Amino acid sequence: MPKRHNRKKWWIAAGIFLVLILFFRMMPLYKPALSAPFSGPYWYNPYREVNTEGRWMRANFHAHSNVWGFFTNGRKNTVEDILSKYDSLGYDIMGISDYQNITQTPEIPYIPVYEHGYNILKTHQGSIGAREVYHRDYILLQTRSQKQHILNKLRQRTEVLVLNHPDWMGGYSLRDIRFLTGYDCFEVLNDFWKSEDLWDVALSSGKPAMIVGGDDAHNVFKQTDLARDLTIIYTVSDTLKPNDIYRALIGGTAYGVEVTKRFSRASVVEKRRNLDNMPMLRSCKIRNDSLIVTLTGDAREFRFTGQDGKLLKKVTGPANGIHTAFYRLQQEDTYVRVKIAFPDSSHIYLNPIMRTIEKDIKPPMPASQKRWLFRIFDK
Ligand SMILES: [Zn+2]
Repeated sequence: MPKRHNRKKWWIAAGIFLVLILFFRMMPLYKPALSAPFSGPYWYNPYREVNTEGRWMRANFHAHSNVWGFFTNGRKNTVEDILSKYDSLGYDIMGISDYQNITQTPEIPYIPVYEHGYNILKTHQGSIGAREVYHRDYILLQTRSQKQHILNKLRQRTEVLVLNHPDWMGGYSLRDIRFLTGYDCFEVLNDFWKSEDLWDVALSSGKPAMIVGGDDAHNVFKQTDLARDLTIIYTVSDTLKPNDIYRALIGGTAYGVEVTKRFSRASVVEKRRNLDNMPMLRSCKIRNDSLIVTLTGDAREFRFTGQDGKLLKKVTGPANGIHTAFYRLQQEDTYVRVKIAFPDSSHIYLNPIMRTIEKDIKPPMPASQKRWLFRIFDK
């Protein structure tokens, strides 16, 4: 056989080898994260230290400005427009979540935030307390491993990692949620999409995902973009510090509010008055195996939900409403979360109490583990 022919074969083989290396380099491979219900002798109650000395603050970490025009997707509104609207609405904490860009604001406290992701199926992540932008993404259909890879990269660059509108366009599937790990919060409430059922999938598979609610506002001059979904954060200190906010979000000393649709087109003044009048959480305690939730005002209904999203108890008040309800915790309960409905169909979504092994320690997210092929190629 001529020598030249042999050399050609060698080059083809080398080419295939190189393509394979690049392929595996591009293709992160992770084992599915451990998926098992919460267990342990104790209950972790995120609200155990809530009392009347603290305050609840309004927060939104999801609004887009026009800093980079098309890319940050905020249409016409400037950072100043956004801050001034939310200030008028009585918000205490505001983060501008532009795409792939940490937009500085003069807000005190300043919370650096951005939204990560430019793929076709809206698999997005919220980075709250962002130290740096991670510029890469997988733009086509993402495998679960690729999603895990992005989460791990973001984890190294942020204080609080959020799965944004996870159920929207199947951004995260049911299987994804069962086996992904390493994030802190779940954007259950978003003006475009509610991901309540998927949240129960995360919780039922032992992922201690805490709630956030956000407007995902793209134009604050549209009433329907404002004060629809928000996060309410508890604090005891008079001066708000970013670290306190991150700790409250991760530890769960916060809850989500979904404002009734009736107020979607209301004026800023009306929206604010409505928020000012909405009852707040006074306490959420465990006493003698009962979970007792008390509000500062009356509600129409309390729903207690547990493993696999099962409704454990529904307490409906008389016509004038009820401000407190309890549920007797059962041996088989793994987590219990409470959703409270008001007469106008606004809702409060409390974070779950969860079974845990160590007293007063939130059950940890399972570790993410690479498969061996990826261990070789990943730096
Ligand atoms: Zn998004």
